[in-house]
Amino acid sequence: SAGPEDMPPEIWDKIKNHPCYSEEAHHHYARMHVAVAPACNIQCNYCNRKYDCSNESRPGVVSQKLTPEQAVKKVLAVASEIPQMTVLGIAGPGDALANPKKTFDTFRMLAEQAPDIKLCLSTNGLALPEMVEEICKYNIDHVTITINMVDPAIGEKIYPWIFWDHKRVTGLEAARILHEQQMKGLEMLTARGVLTKINSVLIPGINDEHLIEVNREVKKRGAFLHNIMPLISEAEHGTYFGLNGQRGPSAQELKAVQDACMGGANLMRHCRQCRADAVGLLGEDRSDEFTLDKIEQME
Ligand code: SF4
Ligand code: SF4
Repeated sequence: SAGPEDMPPEIWDKIKNHPCYSEEAHHHYARMHVAVAPACNIQCNYCNRKYDCSNESRPGVVSQKLTPEQAVKKVLAVASEIPQMTVLGIAGPGDALANPKKTFDTFRMLAEQAPDIKLCLSTNGLALPEMVEEICKYNIDHVTITINMVDPAIGEKIYPWIFWDHKRVTGLEAARILHEQQMKGLEMLTARGVLTKINSVLIPGINDEHLIEVNREVKKRGAFLHNIMPLISEAEHGTYFGLNGQRGPSAQELKAVQDACMGGANLMRHCRQCRADAVGLLGEDRSDEFTLDKIEQME
């Protein structure tokens, strides 16, 4: 995997302790998520709102929602138990930027009380351009944007509506606005030196062949990593609402799309689709050890 010799030192410095951005780091460093962001400003056809945002997390998981104050308490407790915990992310259970007050209150308190912990967030990108200045205030070096299409005609099959300018917008228009906001947000982050990871959910028959173009377009705009994740479609998580019986890709189909993207933006292949309150190394889940009642007992 990529090492310090493959990139400028200032970039290496940003990724060397981040388990999601460096394949090497993911064996040694841990991240945690706090679920402070319940609302969402769009609807993805593969999302069942009873569960965590499936753009950064494994579908079908319900995280314990926290207030910013509870979240800070939890981060400090985890940091004292798990010294390898270097990154704190806000990735739901809705969209981090659809809950700006909660998200940025949490970041502000953490920047003051735990300045060594790197901050990270994940978003669908709709509200990103207007939040870039705020993001840069807290020294957030890493942002994940879920981008499933660069063509609104495909987007229309994935997103039934968005909430935009105080109203619900549907159809092609909704997909076009979302697409423009995603591209603009990505360009703004690149211009400010924030490293971006693009998540794409591979939906067979909808965007499988299209993801090569997504890969090309995000690379052009400076994306650091592209993470192509399989749609996980199981009845108990709520199926794909736009199209009944939509299946997820097989392991071979996923690999074929990932291989077809070689030469474009760098692919992340060690993603574990973690939950919105994940704690620990990627692939390890220690969230049960740090529920609110247990944290209160630690004090
Ligand atoms: Fe669900 Fe996340 Fe999509 Fe919002 S962005 S609808 S929470 S999957
Ligand atoms: Fe990793 Fe995504 Fe969480 Fe950031 S938000 S720490 S990139 S899993």
